Amino acid sequence: MPATPSRSQNTSRRVAAPVAAKRDLDAIYGILSKTYTTFDETDDPWMTNGLSSTPFKSLVSVCLSTMTITKRVVNAAVPLYEKVSTFEELRDLPDDELRRIIKPVAHYNRKTKNLKEMARQIIEDYGGSIPDNRDDLIKLQGVGRKCVDILMNFTLSQDSIAVDTHVLRVLNRLGVVDTTSAKQAADLINAQTPARHKRHAHEWLIQYGMKICVARTPKCAHCPLTKHCDWYAEHRAA
Ligand code: SF4
Repeated sequence: MPATPSRSQNTSRRVAAPVAAKRDLDAIYGILSKTYTTFDETDDPWMTNGLSSTPFKSLVSVCLSTMTITKRVVNAAVPLYEKVSTFEELRDLPDDELRRIIKPVAHYNRKTKNLKEMARQIIEDYGGSIPDNRDDLIKLQGVGRKCVDILMNFTLSQDSIAVDTHVLRVLNRLGVVDTTSAKQAADLINAQTPARHKRHAHEWLIQYGMKICVARTPKCAHCPLTKHCDWYAEHRAA
């Protein structure tokens, strides 16, 4: 077993700490960009199942995806989109039917209420269109910071890096941040990432976190970022 990392999976035991100093993000992204493709270049199930093929689907899919693996999101979203394709249809779908359809995702009871309220907000407060700015997106029921960053980047074409559990783990191990707070990490990484890397940074970081810098035992022997990594310097380099 590897040594227990100081910046890694045990983040739930730490209180949020200030973010750490900036690392050589340009070099890190340069390596990742040569190692990983972007989602639209792969057979990513999110793309192949059309989960973001319309703004409506993008927003609903992102809301379904919190705390849920992609396979389960697909199992809920595909039958849901056979029933509804607009916020009006979502609002009018009976709660029991919506709950039954999205049962594959975590917290489906709460998400049922959130989706119905979100549909109502968009219809009544925003004329049926998804708002195109952070301040209004975050007001939507069930839409948190990560969802906003995903929507900004992938739906509204306003480059933004979403920080989920994989991205947060990677950034902590590298030493780019030192925080349990995804919001703090997102604030820092969005402020310090060079503009030319922001569009695809989330895609590279999440693939890297799922394939190499995995939660339980990072695959450092296959990692191209060892010389940029605090965790490696502390636990593996010797
Ligand atoms: S060397 Fe690479 S895989 Fe290992 S902890 Fe660091 S970033 Fe993760």
